[in-house]
Amino acid sequence: MAENKSKTTPMMEQYLSIKENHQDCLLFYRMGDFYELFFEDAELASSALDITLTKRGSHNDAPIPMCGVPVHASETYLSRLIRKGYRVAVCEQTESPTEAKKRGGKAVVRREVVRIVTPGTITEDNLLDARANNYLCALTEYGGIMSLAWCDMSTGEFTIQDVTIKTIGATLSRIAPSEFIVPQNIITKEALFDVLADWQSVIHPLPDVRFDFQNGEKRLLDFYGVSDLTGFGDFSKAGVACAGSLLDYIALTQIGTMPSLKIPCTLQASGILDIDGATRRSLELTHTQNGQKNGSLLSTIDCTVTGAGARLVHARLASPLTDGVAINHRLDSITTAINAPDCVDEIMAIMQGSPDLERAMTRLSLGRGGPRDLSAILHCLTMTSGLKNIIRKMNNALPQNLQTIIQDLGHHDSVVNTLKSALEDELPLLARDGGFIRCGFNTALDKIRQVRDHSRQLIADLEQQYRNHTGVDKLKIKHNNVLGYFIEVTVKNADKMDLDLFIHRQSTASQVRYTTTELSELARDIIESRDKALAMELEIFKTLCDTVCNHNQEIGLTAVALAEIDWVCGFALLAVKENYCRPQLTEDSVFVIEGGRHPVVEQSLKKQGKSFISNTCDLSTGQKLWLLTGPNMAGKSTFLRQNALITIMAQMGVYVPATVCHMGIVDKLFSRVGASDDLARGQSTFMVEMVETATILNQATNRSLVILDEIGRGTSTFDGLSIAWSCVEHLHNTSQCRTLFATHYHELNTLAKSLENVSPYAMQVKEWDNEVVFLHTVGAGSANRSYGIHVARLAGLPPSVITRADTILQQLENNKTSGELQSIGELPLFQNLPDAETKPASPAPIKSPAEEHLETLNPDDLSPRDALETLYQLKSLL
Ligand code: ATP
Repeated sequence: MAENKSKTTPMMEQYLSIKENHQDCLLFYRMGDFYELFFEDAELASSALDITLTKRGSHNDAPIPMCGVPVHASETYLSRLIRKGYRVAVCEQTESPTEAKKRGGKAVVRREVVRIVTPGTITEDNLLDARANNYLCALTEYGGIMSLAWCDMSTGEFTIQDVTIKTIGATLSRIAPSEFIVPQNIITKEALFDVLADWQSVIHPLPDVRFDFQNGEKRLLDFYGVSDLTGFGDFSKAGVACAGSLLDYIALTQIGTMPSLKIPCTLQASGILDIDGATRRSLELTHTQNGQKNGSLLSTIDCTVTGAGARLVHARLASPLTDGVAINHRLDSITTAINAPDCVDEIMAIMQGSPDLERAMTRLSLGRGGPRDLSAILHCLTMTSGLKNIIRKMNNALPQNLQTIIQDLGHHDSVVNTLKSALEDELPLLARDGGFIRCGFNTALDKIRQVRDHSRQLIADLEQQYRNHTGVDKLKIKHNNVLGYFIEVTVKNADKMDLDLFIHRQSTASQVRYTTTELSELARDIIESRDKALAMELEIFKTLCDTVCNHNQEIGLTAVALAEIDWVCGFALLAVKENYCRPQLTEDSVFVIEGGRHPVVEQSLKKQGKSFISNTCDLSTGQKLWLLTGPNMAGKSTFLRQNALITIMAQMGVYVPATVCHMGIVDKLFSRVGASDDLARGQSTFMVEMVETATILNQATNRSLVILDEIGRGTSTFDGLSIAWSCVEHLHNTSQCRTLFATHYHELNTLAKSLENVSPYAMQVKEWDNEVVFLHTVGAGSANRSYGIHVARLAGLPPSVITRADTILQQLENNKTSGELQSIGELPLFQNLPDAETKPASPAPIKSPAEEHLETLNPDDLSPRDALETLYQLKSLL
């Protein structure tokens, strides 16, 4: 800050020097019961929070803008600021005014920033979404390798993954960090420009030195108290630097107080179904296209009853697996649960509404917890033995994952007994409010409380004694923060007060207040015993926190096991309720989904009392690429998406909305459904479409699944048709992936004749009494009409426009049949050009009628006259 400090008050001087070190944050400067903000911070915060902007004193002859928020309600204000992308440095008074006075009459109370609140480092329940993870992510490049590391400080989860320029985008979309720290030198890298642009609103650039390998390694070693990292896993140097930079940033924002983080695990990209950002958005996995959670796949399939369970569903939906064994382990647990419905009900009844163990543990480890966090831990650990018994009842031979859950639920008798005997039933939010330790837990505390309570009784006795003495029945002994304890009578009774005994303290319009030597002494005893009791409770609280934190490892495992059992039961309930089937995953390229349904559309139709029409999809050899045609509104997009969603659910390891699902494990899933502008990035609808299509054509392998809807619709008909045509050829010949390709270009069906793995399918409709009825069923063959005008009529276009459109369509179709428009097969555009990449499976070129006629001729059989005649015929055919 450039202000001239010469005219500043000592307090403002202190403020400015603290602010100088936190330029990129709003500074919450503690003054009594308020956090005050000054200067530009005040202007920003008052407008972001919609609170009054006032002025206080002046600085450099100008009034100082100021606004403030009460400390007791600060979390709400903090959460609003964080959501709006601000970072807040919280500056507390670190000594009392009395202590400051001791240092000299004019000394300002000492203040220090105790924490920087940022989107990726919050731990308070009020600031967090209980059902979603909150990831802080870092990016580093070292020795030509790029790495991402991310952690959820509120749960302790910590992961490292090496990435490449190609994979970083999809990985970030999977993590969806709420804060992303990036070294300054990487931000300017051209190759990463596009990827980072997507995350601009959450990126926080930091100096390169914070991402240094040596420092990073040292941070990790010190944090975990080990001398070598090899025991933790095989990390690249970039990974170590990256994870170290996260720890460094946490230390920076938490001002040295570190949360407890699990040992970082490494993720191999190959173990996870690769889904890029565009595909995630188009499939509406966790949010709909307009940002709502409702209507997403996640909100449809999540039946868990705890925050941790919901976070696990979210995480697993974001990263379906590619390892068949691991997928089957998950499925085995769900199958066991489905076969034991009573046990599932019992488990869910116990878990319903249980508190968040992981987050309570983190707050305690950061010294930010309260008595209710201890009771959350007690609640969860108490549940474990009951849960273990119910899981054991599910089956005599439990599958591996359920056995692990039982083991990880662990034994916590000592912690449970300690907390149970220590904690009161009703608990305050903050430890400093006291009154949370149960009577009988600590003898010393009980004694002090007796003194305190006895003094209270003495006050009541004294009140009665003074009433008798003065004859004033309404005499009262009261307490307030200014006077402490005082005797109060109405003005009318003041002359009855014996002034040798009662010392006047204060008069108001209707009351007169006094004290006595005896009352002052009693008051001092009460305050002393109250303070002593509180100090003792705080001491006990600290011991209890230490006890719990010493069992950090076991409790951490229990928290994971609780989330897992909620996950298993949630998906068992969903499978039964919605009649889902267990998918069969194999290593080949089979793809047979019988009776497949779209989980989200099905549930939404159900709410309207309608049923969803199931469809079968078979992309096995010979028909790996389906060309799907059909009218608008017939259900093409729904069919396409449902097969992608079933794939994701199958590889998440859960039951799927189908009657049969037999699927060769998919390595990458691409979906381009519908088009939208990306004006923020300066890309038109068609450009976005082409960029996404390019990604698919460049990256799909023969183990991938590609869902393409309406390629080439954003340009002229012939341009679009030719792009769609060549894309089909590329997917068939080069990528050789399983593909569902929906299109209104009915001309593409010609390809089914020349490309061996292309099969035409169509959405069925019935024409009935001049109306079109959508059957929503997929059948073999191709559609020859789009019924677009019918849909336009349903949408309410004016009748005159509809009639005119009908006439034009008729004309166009007549022209087409009369040959005035060139038939598609005659367009030189669609003659296959030799292409180095497509050589192996290059289909037979399409022949023109002239060529076909030429082929039937044998020149030796032609007389000179016939030859001349043939020449004329050929010319006319051209
Ligand atoms: P367009 O070509 O105009 O994009 P479309 O063929 O892709 O249309 P969809 O958007 O998939 O059609 O479906 C239109 C509506 O039809 C859906 O919103 C849904 O309500 C209903 N629908 C689709 N499939 C089914 C089905 N299998 N069973 C019942 N209703 C369905």
